[in-house]
Amino acid sequence: METREFQAEAAQVLDLMIHSVYSNKDIFLRELISNSSDALDKLRFEALTNKELEPQTKDLHILLEADAEARTLTVHDNGIGMSREEVIQFIGTIAKSGTKEFVNLLKEAKKSTDLPPELIGQFGVGFYSSFIVADKVTLVSRKAGEEGATRWESTGDGKYTLDDAERENCGTSVTLHLKPADEDDAMQDYTKEWPIREIVKKYSDFVAYPIRMNVEKTEYPKDADGKIKEGAEPIKTVELETLNSMKAIWLRDPKEVKDEEHHEFYRHISHDWNEPLHQYTLKAEGTFEFRALLYLPSKAPFDLFYRDAQRGVQLYIKRIFIMSDCKELIPEYLRFVRGVVDSEDLSLNVSREILQQDRHIRVIRKRLIAKTFETLHELRENEPEKWAGFWKEFGRVLKEGLFADPENRDKLFELVEFPSTHDPVKTTTLADYVSRMKEGQTAIYYMTGESRGQIENSPHLEAFKAKGFEVLLLSDNVDEVWTQTFLQYTAKAEGEDQKDKTYSFKSIGKGEVELGGAEEKKKSEEERKEKETQYKDLLAAMKQALDERVKEVRLSSRLTDSPVCLVSDEADLTPQLEQMLREAGQDVPKSKRILELNPGHPILERLKARHALKPDDPSIAEYAELLYGQACLAEGRQPDDPASFSKKIAELMVKAMG
Ligand code: ADP
Repeated sequence: METREFQAEAAQVLDLMIHSVYSNKDIFLRELISNSSDALDKLRFEALTNKELEPQTKDLHILLEADAEARTLTVHDNGIGMSREEVIQFIGTIAKSGTKEFVNLLKEAKKSTDLPPELIGQFGVGFYSSFIVADKVTLVSRKAGEEGATRWESTGDGKYTLDDAERENCGTSVTLHLKPADEDDAMQDYTKEWPIREIVKKYSDFVAYPIRMNVEKTEYPKDADGKIKEGAEPIKTVELETLNSMKAIWLRDPKEVKDEEHHEFYRHISHDWNEPLHQYTLKAEGTFEFRALLYLPSKAPFDLFYRDAQRGVQLYIKRIFIMSDCKELIPEYLRFVRGVVDSEDLSLNVSREILQQDRHIRVIRKRLIAKTFETLHELRENEPEKWAGFWKEFGRVLKEGLFADPENRDKLFELVEFPSTHDPVKTTTLADYVSRMKEGQTAIYYMTGESRGQIENSPHLEAFKAKGFEVLLLSDNVDEVWTQTFLQYTAKAEGEDQKDKTYSFKSIGKGEVELGGAEEKKKSEEERKEKETQYKDLLAAMKQALDERVKEVRLSSRLTDSPVCLVSDEADLTPQLEQMLREAGQDVPKSKRILELNPGHPILERLKARHALKPDDPSIAEYAELLYGQACLAEGRQPDDPASFSKKIAELMVKAMG
């Protein structure tokens, strides 16, 4: 026998599980049944290509065995089973990325009285929920195709033991040594028939394999007339009963499936313990026959942005489970969609490689995308609250489609929403933005940044605000990416006599801006020319002083209050995008930016005067440096050398105070 320690994170999760005051203990059974059901799926799938396993798939089932005297409950399955290494890997560790963050969340949650159930399922710690009701758990497993079996046992104290064992067939048995039952609550005695029956009905009715249990029956002997014989001893028999209906939920009439049934099924396939936000179905007949039952989650999973995260759509072929996480069925920017696709036409012998080129799969994928768009449009039209919830959780994922799926870009442009200067809280659609555009405005103005607040306060917005031009405030990482791809939005014509109009997107933090109608532009252009002659020497001097930091110093037409701001060249990456790429491990050179000065600001007027009087005054360079630092701060960034910046400010204060 061998004793091992749980991986640190696993031990922590386990510990929290054991000590948490868990309000719904029943869920442990659905987790174990769910694991068994997955294991049966896997064996059935393996057997499609490995004929040696076929005989073992004749009677796939789950058996629940309760022993009131020993106070144990065992969940048996004759599924794929686990090898010794797999037991160590799957049961002793939590492999998912983000586990540390998860443990921290759990620790926080523990301070309040309950553990948020949605967290547990998301992290796939289903098996550990056994320790909510058991003080010792024994697992015996034999992998299909192998001889020996493995026994795993733990009391949840950070250690577990491993031993060789025997098992007649492949599969897994999990035995819970139950904690003493609560005398007052018979429904929480998990060695009794009724609680078990209820839990299975409630949580696992749709499981595609029979969930069986030996049920005790008492019969009273009857006479020829069917009356109970007086004084006769009752006859006790034991019968093996199937507790679930096993109906595949996606084959049933959608109108007849109750919401609760959807919730349980959704939980089973998604491992998300929150109720789904919305469900929709798709049924294709004719050349390609398939059915799909799909769900939009109500909450984004913690691993939405992890590369190795599971995607949500399962593939079945003629009712047989083929794989979870079928990436070919749904594009990445719709990765939040969960559900099941059951195809009639695919061959059961599909492999991942075949899937990638299969014509059927491509057709299904297209239909799923179209249906999902249709559903999202309907949500927005008919259930604005749901839509708002959806957008909050998944909008930033959906926006990935703007560059990832050119074919559906126009449809996406109709859906996407952005915060804008038009309303402090509400987001706007592009159609609404365009309807508010000012005369002569030809582009959709936007600004990217770290947060709405930071963008709203950035000096770049000043002239736009002053002149009443609306600006979209984009602060999701994905905004940095799609705006970089120079997309165009086409606003549909409203009346017969009008034409569709196409607009490009223009960053107000990039390149030059000119606002207003033709007249206004002409006037400001003239003014600027004049100012430029006045400021020529100062601009040159400042450029010289800041040569290492900026590529150009010029006058600005976007500032009204602030003295300076930094802008990027039209074709350059924004500093945020540069940083994102660097964080993703790419070697991106830092591109120099442009310092813009507000000729109407007193600082610059005085600086110009000082420079005219004494062109070689060393303080000019110092001020240039300070102004550059200010421009960095104004957009929420650090000056290149914060310590020296702060020293210069202090010196300046001393001077000012005499
Ligand atoms: P999850 O089911 O969310 O992955 P669990 O902690 O419940 O998380 O299970 C971890 C892994 O252990 C499963 O992914 C599976 O590989 C394996 N496992 C659990 N129960 C069984 C079982 N009854 N038969 C075979 N493998 C199992």
